[in-house]
Amino acid sequence: MKANDYILSSYGFDSKIVEFVSDAESKLAGKFDEIRHLAEINHLKVIKAFQDEGVSERHFHPSTGYGYSDDGKIKLSSLFSRIFRSQGAIAGPMIASGTHAITLCLFGLLRPLDTLLSITGKPYDTLMHAIGKGDANTGSLKDFAISYMQIDLLPDGGFDYFKIINNLNINDKIKMAYIQRSRGYELRRSLSVNEISKIIRSIKKIRPDVIVMVDNCYGEFCEITEPIEAGADIIAGSLIKNPGGGLAPTGGYIAGKESLVDLTANRLTSPVIGAEVGSYNASYLPFFQGLYMAPIVTAEAIKGAMLTSKVFYELGYEVMPQAFDERPDITQSIVFNDENKLLTYIKAIQKSSAVDSHVEPIPWDMPGYDEKIIMAAGAFIQGSSIELSADGPVKPPYIAFVQGGLSYIQHKLGLITALNDLKAL
Ligand SMILES: *Cc1c(COP(=O)(O)O)cnc(C)c1O
Repeated sequence: MKANDYILSSYGFDSKIVEFVSDAESKLAGKFDEIRHLAEINHLKVIKAFQDEGVSERHFHPSTGYGYSDDGKIKLSSLFSRIFRSQGAIAGPMIASGTHAITLCLFGLLRPLDTLLSITGKPYDTLMHAIGKGDANTGSLKDFAISYMQIDLLPDGGFDYFKIINNLNINDKIKMAYIQRSRGYELRRSLSVNEISKIIRSIKKIRPDVIVMVDNCYGEFCEITEPIEAGADIIAGSLIKNPGGGLAPTGGYIAGKESLVDLTANRLTSPVIGAEVGSYNASYLPFFQGLYMAPIVTAEAIKGAMLTSKVFYELGYEVMPQAFDERPDITQSIVFNDENKLLTYIKAIQKSSAVDSHVEPIPWDMPGYDEKIIMAAGAFIQGSSIELSADGPVKPPYIAFVQGGLSYIQHKLGLITALNDLKAL
């Protein structure tokens, strides 16, 4: 019996839907092959790093108190550093989230009167509060007299070289150029490591002193190189996304030049003490296992996103990226142009999950976001978006952002459930 037959017989969906999805799937066979190669290379890269780092069972043990010479903490960070080809890294549960990791970089590296320049338009929503948007005395960069400027991407989604170079030439207060690799909640394309490499080369040519930072969330293991190899000075991300492989229970990471990572560690705890202090009295095992599995899980998520893209495109929806486009991250957007359809889609994704499938998501005022957000999060790990998850701000044009899936079949089940509930065929 094929999986599709099993889905048909156990969920009672219309066979038209399952056939439509199978048909789309067969057109993607070549792309799926490419993704398998990507996963193999990245998985080998990770295994080699484990070997070179001499990872042992003792690294999985908990620590207590100050956490001095906590071998698990140290080894996990060294692994991230080796995999991302950086001089240094901090990775693990002492960083609470992706936002926290990025915020540590901003506060660790910027000083009063410096300017932060985003060259990919508006950063991810939660970070706008770290930068400071009017609300005084929240401890934002603005409260510390650190200014913020942004240069939007061009209509084709590429960097605005002219404006970027011009600004860097005339404004010596710019201390950091900030790049967001993934789209976040914007309808734009995500940036490839190759494109990031080109802009960094141009920036460094005229301003070698400027720190180039990349928000790497959702991008890890989507290509065979990572932004440090493209010349970025520092990168940050979340462990409940790609590099946690769906197993890490919490956490974030920062990787980059040693001197810069040390400054962010000083912000994490206290100056000079840095990452030396900090214990975790639970097992580090899931962090190691998750990192080990991350390239495979990321590839499953990419294949699922491709299928969703292909199917909704064929049904006449605007999707981004298209199935055959470059895919520098795991996210997929579908433009519904209809509030009800958006809500139906998100609810269907929730319904198809292994965890909390009986729960109905409703739009809510999520901390850090401006509009109501509806979110399907039937995940083992709360809020994990390497697991199949879908969300969208409830405002026109009613875009759903879907990502993850620990397995391709989970993503496909979500898609078929959604097509059924949307009465799409
Ligand atoms: C998820 C995400 C963040 C924030 O990470 P959290 O772990 O949710 O705090 C920042 N930037 C991008 C592009 C993201 O996708």
